[in-house]
Amino acid sequence: MARKRDGKKKAKIRTDFKKKHEGRTRRIDLTRDYIGQPFDDDENISSERLSGKGALTRRRTVIGEEVADPDGGRSIQLEVDESICQVGRVLSVHGLTSMVQAESGNIVRCVTRGLLKSLHTDQRQVVAAGDRVLFRPEGDEEGFIERIEPRRGILSRTTRNRRHVIVTNVDQLLIIATAAEPALKPNLIDRYLVTAEKAKIRPVICINKIDLVDLADLQPLAGVYGQMGYEVHFVSAINGFGMERLKSVFRGRETAVAGQSGVGKSSILNYVQPGLELRIAAVSTDNQKGRHTTTAAQLIPLEMGGFAVDTPGIRQFQLWDVIPTEVAGFFRDVRPYVSLCRFPNCTHTHESNCAVKDAVADGQLDARRFESFCQICAGDDL
Ligand code: GDP
Ligand code: ZN
Repeated sequence: MARKRDGKKKAKIRTDFKKKHEGRTRRIDLTRDYIGQPFDDDENISSERLSGKGALTRRRTVIGEEVADPDGGRSIQLEVDESICQVGRVLSVHGLTSMVQAESGNIVRCVTRGLLKSLHTDQRQVVAAGDRVLFRPEGDEEGFIERIEPRRGILSRTTRNRRHVIVTNVDQLLIIATAAEPALKPNLIDRYLVTAEKAKIRPVICINKIDLVDLADLQPLAGVYGQMGYEVHFVSAINGFGMERLKSVFRGRETAVAGQSGVGKSSILNYVQPGLELRIAAVSTDNQKGRHTTTAAQLIPLEMGGFAVDTPGIRQFQLWDVIPTEVAGFFRDVRPYVSLCRFPNCTHTHESNCAVKDAVADGQLDARRFESFCQICAGDDL
């Protein structure tokens, strides 16, 4: 059995043939004359075997490694010929096409190798914005995505049992709220915090439009979040207050930006990366697949290093899959009390001897945060 340099054993993975492969002539041993051959989509596999006789029992065995993604999904790392591939970063996905930035900075339009698509059956789309990939270039502007590298920092949701990965490999989630216009919604901040905690992505809170209010009024709120260890920024994208400090949060990091529309996400991103609107236009006009262009996540390379990820419609991605019993684990301030409740399955609503409710009564736990917690557990919409 093939072994990697690190000694890890590689799994042979059996996968169903897709319908479209039926009837195609397959070579039994591709390994022998594989090297040095230009390969077709789907043919670049190190080993392949057919079993069974009829079409229904056809399986193929490929060499790869199954890896667990941090969000509970799984991916398969296929063996590919790295010598003819380049490393790239997926900036955006539009239907079947991904815009991949090569290490040279070149943007290459890639389609996904068919085999890769058939292996990742638990995902609606195989490739996601943010993915680090190996791609096989064909000319300067086009190529095939051959392998998706293991992911971390995944924002995803599940729709009808299929995982929809919105963006991968992000370091932090910048939660943008407003002091006014629209009115401050701390509950919404809490929901985004749960999202970040669940994905194990560092959340950073930013309250914009501070020019419209008295900063002192917001200090207690900042205190509550600060005590839990969250970084809080008060800014005004209009008059520049706090913006240099906020900009430094982006430097060299991969930041997903979340917040309801109108909070100033575009204004902030334009401050962080001047001239951005032009760039966004340049990337989108490259792609005529309009339907996805407006809703898909897009990585924005920053001149100072790092990426910002604009995720339009990110509001809908909040709290997918979070089940009520796990919410407490994502509330840093509630979490310490849970094990002190009398009943192990305490819902912290009607039970007696509930340590969480006692903490609220004693003023140890912020009442507003508790209310937020209850609303999230109850699955209330905002
Ligand atoms: P987005 O929908 O989150 O991208 O928000 P935009 O950046 O488009 O901003 C929405 C509106 O809020 C625009 O009219 C901006 O001019 C305004 N706006 C953005 N930042 C500030 C701010 O710091 N203060 C005030 N007063 N208005 C702002
Ligand atoms: Zn309780």
